[in-house]
Amino acid sequence: MIYNDFCGNKISRLGFGAMRFPSEFSAVKALIDKAMASGINYYDTAYVYENSEVLLGRALKNYPRDKFYVTSKMPSWLVKDESDLERIFNETLNRLGVDYIDYYLIHSVSDAKEIKNKNVYPFLMQKKKEGKIRHLGFSIHAKVEVLEEMLEIGEFDFAQIQLNYLDIIHEPGLAGYEILTKHNIPVVIMEPLKGGTLAQVNDEIAKPFIDLGNMSNASYAFRWLMQYSNIKVILSGMTYMPQLEDNLSTFNKYIPLNEKEEKAIKEVKDNILKIQKVPCTGCRYCMPCPAGVNIPGNFKVWNTISFKKATTNHNWISDTSVDPSSGPLKCVKCGKCMLHCPQKIQIPTMLEAMAKELNLKKE
Ligand code: SF4
Ligand code: SF4
Repeated sequence: MIYNDFCGNKISRLGFGAMRFPSEFSAVKALIDKAMASGINYYDTAYVYENSEVLLGRALKNYPRDKFYVTSKMPSWLVKDESDLERIFNETLNRLGVDYIDYYLIHSVSDAKEIKNKNVYPFLMQKKKEGKIRHLGFSIHAKVEVLEEMLEIGEFDFAQIQLNYLDIIHEPGLAGYEILTKHNIPVVIMEPLKGGTLAQVNDEIAKPFIDLGNMSNASYAFRWLMQYSNIKVILSGMTYMPQLEDNLSTFNKYIPLNEKEEKAIKEVKDNILKIQKVPCTGCRYCMPCPAGVNIPGNFKVWNTISFKKATTNHNWISDTSVDPSSGPLKCVKCGKCMLHCPQKIQIPTMLEAMAKELNLKKE
């Protein structure tokens, strides 16, 4: 196992994401026992991952507390007043059966002002002072502007972002990685396989990898991330033993990508992008739409539906349902949005094509 210095601790570069645990405790225990025996010492969960905190706590119960590092996350969107902060935090400690959390995060920040208004940061700093949180960070799927606003709220020990060889330009992508690195903030990566999808693209798309030999699709995605030295932990949500075993062999030793492998990653990426419907980056410069169309939201749904066809893994995080109240049929073709789109997308035309392809009907 490859280890890194992460906030002063020797942490395995492969982190165990507990979001996709199997439902049976015996299967969870077998995975955690194997992970612990193989040197994984970083375990990532969250208050909102159903049952995950409880299962993880039970599976780690028999191990000395100083042999593993556990995370959890505060879902600020569930916080109505300050008593909720205390309640949620204590529930997490109880479910995990621990009296402190090694790496605690503000979960999935989408609006830095909300974090400020709800006093989330001062509350968590107080917990840090009390020793109940050892290192404080935040996780974010939002654009870089939100990430920069978060860095103004306070001092964070680390941050968790989504990054993989397909999603490098948005939410907050490689730009987010660079900002964090400039601020000397270590990075944890989530969604290295885009919800498992990059591991399970069909053989036609993965042909460039297959031609190189018998390494798994997932291994290329992980090694692509490993080239970034400020990425201290790469989380993988492992549900089955063969996934864990494959990941262990990838993280056994860091082997930099050679030229042929880099080329193959680019080709697989191009194959995937070919089936993308709209090159929308989710930047939202086109918003708001005067007719109430959620332009990036609709394009994301359409891309997701199309992309789903290229993978045998449908373990999606992204929603694929169209909300009629902000759907493509609301567009009145005023053209205002197109003035602002850096990708020069013919937005009304694409919305119309989406409605047609998905057979959307006016309510
Ligand atoms: S063209 Fe359609 S999507 Fe664009 S701003 Fe006008 S109504 Fe909204
Ligand atoms: S401006 Fe263009 S790229 Fe940005 S969200 Fe709107 S449609 Fe997508």
